Amino acid sequence: MQFKDIVGHAALKQSMIKTINEERISHAQMFLGAEGSGALPIALAYIQYLFCTNKGETDSCGKCSQCHRISKLTHPDVHFVYPVALSKEKGVEKSSDLFREFTEVFLNDPYLSLADWMDFIGAENKQPTIAVEESKDILHKMSLMAMEGSYKTMIIWMPEKMNLSTANKLLKVLEEPPDKTLFILVSESSQMLATILSRTQLTKVLRCEESELTEALIEHHGLPLETATAIAKACEGNYRLAQMMVKGEVDAEFNMQRFQTWMRICLNLDGLKLSEWINEVASIGREKQKQFIAFAIKTIRQSILLGLNYPSGINPADADFLNKFSPFINYENGAQIAEELNNAYYAIERNAHTKILFMSVSIKIHNYFPQRKKSA
Ligand SMILES: [Zn+2]
Repeated sequence: MQFKDIVGHAALKQSMIKTINEERISHAQMFLGAEGSGALPIALAYIQYLFCTNKGETDSCGKCSQCHRISKLTHPDVHFVYPVALSKEKGVEKSSDLFREFTEVFLNDPYLSLADWMDFIGAENKQPTIAVEESKDILHKMSLMAMEGSYKTMIIWMPEKMNLSTANKLLKVLEEPPDKTLFILVSESSQMLATILSRTQLTKVLRCEESELTEALIEHHGLPLETATAIAKACEGNYRLAQMMVKGEVDAEFNMQRFQTWMRICLNLDGLKLSEWINEVASIGREKQKQFIAFAIKTIRQSILLGLNYPSGINPADADFLNKFSPFINYENGAQIAEELNNAYYAIERNAHTKILFMSVSIKIHNYFPQRKKSA
């Protein structure tokens, strides 16, 4: 993982490079960033730069043996801890029991969310946990000599999922770290034991800038400028959500039909049709639901812009529907609906009950539509 693989964050990358080159490396760090900000890939790029034997001014070389093994997650001094779904049946009690799976999913998409990970290991209905068995493993790995004579490092992803006894054991290591160790805790939530927070150096990983996202969507996904701009505007700095929107584009025609049906039902709030529609959406699975929601957010934003006489990134095949639909959407209710959809996206991530969720969102959307036009 090189810094160049990460969307945006130019200033943060520079400051990380500076601290490494000046050898001001805190042994316990906390990278705090929302989903889609890239905190996890940044942590790995940081370690790769630290280890690289042929560092450049702006990035690791990406070619030396250190870089090569770190980017494949096979370096013996770079360890990972992440939540798992504990299972006696499958013999899963700690991260290393699922390292092959983690490697596969991370290499496929370093911007993965916790829900993506839990889906991947078939544990979407289980609690993600970093349990006490893990702490023994952490202590063991970090007390060994570094294989390559440099740092021993450990990235702990989602430390907020540690239970109390794991956290307390970790705390002891953070207080008296073995020589040449580096812990990077990568968290989405500052709701963590104050004692742990107080022993780590905090780096905030902000959401990506709109312009940075637009650029990345053009470069990595080959989108035309208009579509990339529309998606970047709609996803509010979350690159993960942006990727979902790009995937939604793959099924755009299908998602558009589904969206049109939904909006017609919401407009008149026909209970029977709504429950049929919800049953259908409930059956497509969480990943596709997220893609659909991402698509819906983008379409609502397009409707707002169309209403303001600023059409952006509209597929000609959808123009007819959007022209009829946009009078129902103004800047205010459009923003409210987009926010509801955004909340729904995160609720699906957090494993909400799909049918109840879509029912409640549908009613809210109905209420956001202008009353006098409902018979249209
Ligand atoms: Zn290198």
